[in-house]
Amino acid sequence: RAKAEGRGRWCFFEPEMDARMRERRLLELDLRRALVVGEFELHYQPIVAVASRRVSGLEALLRWRHPERGLVPPDAFIPLAEEIGLIVPLGEWVLAQACRDAAGWLGTPKVAVNLSPVQFASRGLVDAVATALELSGLDPARLELEITETVMLQDTQATLATLHRLKALGVRIAMDDFGTGYSSLSYLQRFPFDKVKIDRSFTSGLEQSPRSNAIVGAVTDLCLGLDMTITAEGVETEEQLQELRRKGCGEAQGYLFSKPQPAAEIPMLLARLAAEVQADLVTD
Ligand code: C2E
Ligand code: MG
Ligand code: MG
Ligand code: MG
Repeated sequence: RAKAEGRGRWCFFEPEMDARMRERRLLELDLRRALVVGEFELHYQPIVAVASRRVSGLEALLRWRHPERGLVPPDAFIPLAEEIGLIVPLGEWVLAQACRDAAGWLGTPKVAVNLSPVQFASRGLVDAVATALELSGLDPARLELEITETVMLQDTQATLATLHRLKALGVRIAMDDFGTGYSSLSYLQRFPFDKVKIDRSFTSGLEQSPRSNAIVGAVTDLCLGLDMTITAEGVETEEQLQELRRKGCGEAQGYLFSKPQPAAEIPMLLARLAAEVQADLVTD
């Protein structure tokens, strides 16, 4: 089409397109290399029960320890990994590693793993989850899989079948980023979610925005009525936490408690958070 519009136009866009394509191609090769040599790592962020402040789970968040670029966040490489299909083996690595880590943290709560819609639609997903559980020895009840609303847009019958097969393994399913996508109440009716995570964009407006506040309240009531746990994402202030407590929201996650930390730091982080709960019990 560009060609048909004349040679001048084609030439005008070509160098820029070329540079972008080359950069993409380089990132692609770099990503494939990174998976082979093991440059990916998991950081973990605690999820806390609002009423007791006890840690109820840890969310695994993927990072790329790049030799030159340093620690690369997931938003910078997951979209491309999805496009080139690398998210499937990468996601399998995440599942296996998170289950191994969690199995090693004795007495620790659940571990949550994010699944890409591409990974969710791939044939081997249920087997990959089963294998990760088996090899690590992790109790399936301690594994929670987070999916986004995008997953629900795909062929409903197949999605439902996959969700039921996953639930049959004994794992829990959470809907992530609720409220940002195509949030349809029919998803909550049709799909067997154990938990809904309300997106940070609503949590951050809890105090200043009456609208966000009302939405958090309504979603909390809805989830309580449907017997699902509700987790507020991105809790940064004590005031937000108190407001969530007043609304009856079950769990909170955010910088108020901790930023995501490397796996090696987790036992110490859990000990520190447990000590804080004890100290609060004494002073109250
Ligand atoms: P998410 O699953 O919604 O994860 C929550 C994101 O919010 C994380 O960003 C976390 O670091 C950030 N966050 C947590 N608390 C706060 C807070 O109080 N304030 C602020 N400003 N941010 C907070 P992160 O680690 O950069 O991950 C971004 C997204 O990348 C995740 O969103 C998830 O969708 C995706 N992702 C991460 N790890 C994986 C993975 O292993 N596989 C797949 N497919 N996606 C992943
Ligand atoms: Mg998540
Ligand atoms: Mg989220
Ligand atoms: Mg998100």
